[in-house]
Parts: sequence; structure tokens; C-alpha cells
Amino acid sequence: MSFFDLVDFDDHEQVVFCSDQASGLKAIIAVHSTALGPAAGGCRFWDYASDEAALTDVLRLSKGMTYKNAMAGLKLGGGKAVIIGNPKQLKSEALFTAFGKAVNNLNGRYYTAEDVNITTADMSLVNQQTDFVSGLEGKSGNPGPFTALGTFLGIKAAVKFKLGKDDLTGIKVAVQGLGSVGYSLCEKLNQAGAILYVSDINPNALEKAERELNANIVGLDEIYQQDVDVFSPCALGASINDDTLQQLKASIVAGCANNQLAHARHDKAMLDQGVLYAPDYVINAGGIINVALEIYPEEYCADTATALVQNIYQTLMNVFEKAQATNQPTGIVADEMAREIIAKGKK
Ligand code: NAD
Repeated sequence: MSFFDLVDFDDHEQVVFCSDQASGLKAIIAVHSTALGPAAGGCRFWDYASDEAALTDVLRLSKGMTYKNAMAGLKLGGGKAVIIGNPKQLKSEALFTAFGKAVNNLNGRYYTAEDVNITTADMSLVNQQTDFVSGLEGKSGNPGPFTALGTFLGIKAAVKFKLGKDDLTGIKVAVQGLGSVGYSLCEKLNQAGAILYVSDINPNALEKAERELNANIVGLDEIYQQDVDVFSPCALGASINDDTLQQLKASIVAGCANNQLAHARHDKAMLDQGVLYAPDYVINAGGIINVALEIYPEEYCADTATALVQNIYQTLMNVFEKAQATNQPTGIVADEMAREIIAKGKK
């Protein structure tokens, strides 16, 4: 295998393979870019089908973090770590100690944080070996409300751009997933006068939304077909795919979920279908903005974080305007804008 010819290798600055036989640690840390600052991005613990699959994931995710942090206006580059194996069998103090040492060896070129299957308790073990950790318990706190605020403002920007309306009164929004972000988003939408249609696998969340927010409960598969203005994916990745796009009646897709498109071609497919798409990594950056400011403690305060999250409205407007002017899909335009910011940082 020629590493440098891999499809997902994107001139990554550094890729480190970490191994510790005693604890069973097998991890890969990818530093995609430090052009704007130290690379930041979480650590994922996953039982990958192969080491190649883990490498592909970390290369893609670290590049995604570079773009996300750049578009969020953060002085941070992009990186990511993956720990390979079954977290239920492998998690131990020794393993996170070994991982913490590996992060520390990068001397601050990479800051880690929680991602899938990593808890704040795991990260505090990592923190015993290194200071290059963010998102710790008792610091910036739960990112969910910041992500929800950014997503709410992103929906407002999309509604203004696509429907010419400044306020959300009477706007119908279908929200898929009422978790930490989705429920908080629904509260804001309800307060702003939007009409909610919601789906979730958790009946308690649905019942609460119906009772507290007057939301209309919809089946898991029916959520796509609702006659609404906005479809807001707030649960799973890949909820925009060939099948769901055919069903979609909404003219806006704007939600907090990561990796909403099953395939890059769905960006163009939405443009062709007249759907305005708010690129996921732009609209859902509220949480990382809050967490990332921990890295610059002299700058952290909730007000700074809130002000940066509020910029998401204008950033998305810029993306929408440029996409319209050039007749390009919004996802492609966001990528271009991110690359321009990174190139300036390199200079
Ligand atoms: P969460 O686990 O709290 O909530 C997810 C919700 O989706 C749960 O209520 C779950 O029951 C529901 N769900 C699962 N399968 C579903 C299905 N098939 N249909 C409908 N609902 C379903 O997660 P979260 O923190 O609210 O994050 C939601 C999404 O946003 C994820 O994709 C996450 O990666 C992304 N995201 C979250 C943050 C954050 O700050 N938490 C930041 C950026 C992106």
C-alpha cells in the first residue's frame, strides 16, 4: 500500500501510529493541518473492520476538523485520533494512560477530546498524562446547548435566504432526533413560533416534546415526507440519501447531525432539487467553538463562545450567497471557503 496515494490522504502534516502491547492500545493520531493553530479534534474508540478502515476514518475526520475549525473562525487546525478495538473489552486505565502519553509526545500539535465511545471519565485519565485535552468535566461543560444555538441560527439564516422571512412564526420544521441538541433546538424553535414535527426512537422524548412544545409526533420513516419548510437531521449520519431525497418535501435541510450526506453527490442532488442545504460542519460548529475556547483559557468565557456561535448565521449567509452566485452546491462552496481561510493561515 502506498500511503501517500490513498484517496483520503490530503497532504496530512503528520500521522502517528501508536502501539502499547501491555495495555492493548492500537491508535492512530492524524494531524491534518496546524496552519491556523494546534490541531484539535476528538478521539473515537471503534471496533473497525480493519486497520485500513481505521486509517481511512482518521484521515477523513481530521481533514473535516480542519475545515470545521476554519469556518468557525477558530485559531485551531484539524486533527483526530482513533483507538482501534472493542471499547467494552479494551477500556482500561493503562490504555488511556498509554494514549495520553502518545498525545503528550506530540507536544501540543494535537489537542484531543471526547468523541464516539469516549467519556469525560476516560478523558480525565488521558489528562493525567497530558495537558493537551479539551472538553473536560467542570470546564466548558456540555456542548449541546451551544450546538443547538448555532443550529437554530443556521435555520434562521436558511429561512431568510430561501423563503425571505426574518422570523420563524408559522414555519414548519421536521426535527429528526430529540437528544441533547435536538430537544434544545426544538425549545428554541417553539419559542420562536415554529410548528414542530418530531421523530425519535425514544418514546419518552416524543411524549415530552408533545406535552411541552406542542410538537406533532411522526413515525421514524415518515419524518422525511412531512409537508414542512425545513427538514432538520439531528440524530444520525447519512440521513440524506437517494431514498430519502426522493421523499423530501422540505426546501431546506438544516440540522446538527454530523455527516448528513450519504455521499458527496447528494450535495449537488439537493441543488438540482431546489433544496437549500446548510453544510453540516458549518451549522453544527457551536459545540466545538465552546469546547475549543478552553484551549485558549485567557480567551474563554461563555460570552466569547456565544458571540462566535452567533457568527454562524452570517457565515452560512456567505455560503448561500456565494453558492447562488456561482450556481454551485453549498457543500462545495463551504469547502472552498474553508480552504481559502487555511491558505491565508499558512501564509
Ligand atoms: P444524542 O445521542 O443526545 O441524541 C440523538 C437522538 O437521536 C436520541 O434522542 C436518539 O434516541 C435519537 N435517534 C436515534 N436514532 C434515531 C432515528 N432512527 N430516528 C430518530 N431519532 C433517532 O446526540 P446529540 O448530542 O444530540 O447529537 C445529535 C447529532 O448531532 C449527532 O449526529 C452528533 O454527532 C451531532 N453533533 C452533536 C454535537 C453536540 O454538541 N452534542 C455537536 C456537533 C454535532
